[in-house]
Amino acid sequence: MPEETALMERLHALIRYLYRPRLADKIVAAFAEALAEKPTESERLAILAHWLDYYQAKRYHKQMRRRRASDLERMTVCTGCGYPVSQRHHLLDIATHGENPVTVHLCANCHELHHLMYNALVRDSLYSQKLIRHILASGQIKAVTIRQIYHWLRAILLYEIDNGWVEPYKLSDLWIEEKLGLLEYLARTEAV
Ligand SMILES: [Zn+2]
Ligand SMILES: [Zn+2]
Repeated sequence: MPEETALMERLHALIRYLYRPRLADKIVAAFAEALAEKPTESERLAILAHWLDYYQAKRYHKQMRRRRASDLERMTVCTGCGYPVSQRHHLLDIATHGENPVTVHLCANCHELHHLMYNALVRDSLYSQKLIRHILASGQIKAVTIRQIYHWLRAILLYEIDNGWVEPYKLSDLWIEEKLGLLEYLARTEAV
């Protein structure tokens, strides 16, 4: 993807995170107009870089202001393992998609596990792959919990693949097995 397009997409995502849809549309349109008047790519890149900095700082302050979850929200059981206190995990990450209601309640451990699995598969993170294998090998986490978290991971990856955000091979059996040894684990625990 050309740099200008990539910067533009990041800028739009930030604007949509920060503002309500109608206002965000107006700001995005204003940028398109302003950029169209700049004939050279370097001018446009400089403008994009400047405003990315600006909106990133704004996002940081907004996140610092995010209200603390209510005690009732926190006392929702973890849908992965049943632990009585949980956090809201955004299946569609906020940085890319803005605040959105697609969330599940996960305890701190299941929450981390979900992020590790995602990073292991999508970002091909060696660090995450190593930790996942360690977790699976420990035998400390119930197979039903691993299955549940994997179930959401698959659902969200299918959605992201459908939208062209993630390469399809990252959900192939071969990839999942190579990165996580997860299918072997699931087959083994199925029998138990
Ligand atoms: Zn849990
Ligand atoms: Zn999360």
